Amino acid sequence: MIKAKPQQALSFYDSVQAYFDKAAVHTGLDQGLLDQIKVCNAVYRMKFPVKINGGVQVIEAYRVQHSHHRSPTKGGIRYSKHVNQEEVMALATLMTFKCAIVDVPFGGAKGGVAITPWDYNEEQLEKITRRYTAELIKRNFIGPSIDVPAPDYGTGEREMAWIYDTYRTFNGEEIDAAGCVTGKPVTQQGIRGRKEATGRGVYYGIREAVNSAEDMKKVGLEPGLEGKTMVIQGLGNVGSFAGKISQDEGGAKIIGIGEVEGAIYKPDGIDIHDLIRFRKETGSILNYPGATNFSKADRGKVIEFECDILVPAALENEITVNNVDKVKAKIIAEAANGPITSEAANILVNKGVLILPDLYLNAGGVTVSYFEWLKNLSHMRFGRMEKRFNQNIMAEMVNVIEEKTGKKITDIQKQTLVRGADEIDLVRSGLEETMISAYHQIRDIMVRNPSIKDLRTAAFVNAINKISSDYLNLGIFP
Ligand code: NAD
Repeated sequence: MIKAKPQQALSFYDSVQAYFDKAAVHTGLDQGLLDQIKVCNAVYRMKFPVKINGGVQVIEAYRVQHSHHRSPTKGGIRYSKHVNQEEVMALATLMTFKCAIVDVPFGGAKGGVAITPWDYNEEQLEKITRRYTAELIKRNFIGPSIDVPAPDYGTGEREMAWIYDTYRTFNGEEIDAAGCVTGKPVTQQGIRGRKEATGRGVYYGIREAVNSAEDMKKVGLEPGLEGKTMVIQGLGNVGSFAGKISQDEGGAKIIGIGEVEGAIYKPDGIDIHDLIRFRKETGSILNYPGATNFSKADRGKVIEFECDILVPAALENEITVNNVDKVKAKIIAEAANGPITSEAANILVNKGVLILPDLYLNAGGVTVSYFEWLKNLSHMRFGRMEKRFNQNIMAEMVNVIEEKTGKKITDIQKQTLVRGADEIDLVRSGLEETMISAYHQIRDIMVRNPSIKDLRTAAFVNAINKISSDYLNLGIFP
């Protein structure tokens, strides 16, 4: 039998453009205004030399500011050998709509450095990161009121600390310098809860979606996350926190994991903490006790595992026209950016699969980055002013209740009641509120407009409408 030739999958950027166009027709806005909202406003491509192992390597890197309708622009920095201009443009575009969906006052941006981070040691990565930051400073592409990077694939707190330190070195007099980058370590002006934020936001988004009895009926599931089976692709920052929190706080049953070294499937459940420990010890998820292994060459099969909820949390273009027919999940929770091409997404929507779209679902990261930026500008930890005051009021209230009822409240109950909120409590509750209200804004748009069949189109409509009001206030557009 002759094997069918795989079709050329749509590029990530083309998919994002197609998603935009599909939603734009529902907004009724002027075409010139839609064109302005759609295009990338500034693209900076750079090449710089870095001395590595006695030789010089020319590093290719980018920073794209998709939309200047609000300042600063905001978006992560990715380190991956696949980084190219189109990919960074796609990611920056998504950031603009993501920020609008969760009501954070930024335009979208993204950065990328075309390197495989694990090919370099820490010292070399620091050199590359500091030089990249210097290039951004040189062209005025970074600053608390200009453009504020954050972590993305291949980067984390360590890289953000180097960026902050480099920026501060060049801008010693700037009092708000710490607001030039988010996702910093807590000891370097970061905020508690940023590291887990994207994964935690993914959990809140999934929980909200599966709590709707009406929506679950459509996909043939009972409402609630407890006991639902989940498969995760990518056990990095976003995937591991999404998995841990879904298991610990939501009672989800994780039955499959995919990583670079392969994939594993275990229908009776995998304890995610135990698996992370196992991977740390052995260097691989493969051979986890009781699980079926899929080799590195077959790692893509994780997308095809039978489950209720599939969480792609690695990279883009994982579900395309070539494998979409093999997807068995009833819900796909896009923790990664762009994991499904627009053609494949149309097929899944027509099949009745519920897709929680990236531009909503992984917006927890930028939401808590916004809190971090505010903390940096205010120069004060959240909760500092009111924590003790709230504790005193609650303690007084407990005394009054005991006095009036003549009943004693237990010490454990007292501790819970009189506890004032710490920074982490405020960050988590702010994130939870943001993810819940954003979900309902999007779902309401879909429910009110029967010609909108999926949450992604509704999310784009919501974002485009919000951004358009900024432009309309300028008086340029009709
Ligand atoms: P990360 O580098 O921490 O983790 C990604 C993981 O995916 C790594 O463990 C890597 O080994 C694994 N991986 C790579 N290719 C794979 C493959 N083919 N199959 C299985 N696993 C594979 O990156 P991250 O920060 O968790 O980002 C993951 C995704 O989430 C990206 O799409 C990113 O843009 C998106 N995202 C991240 C954030 C954030 O705050 N970090 C925010 C929003 C969106």
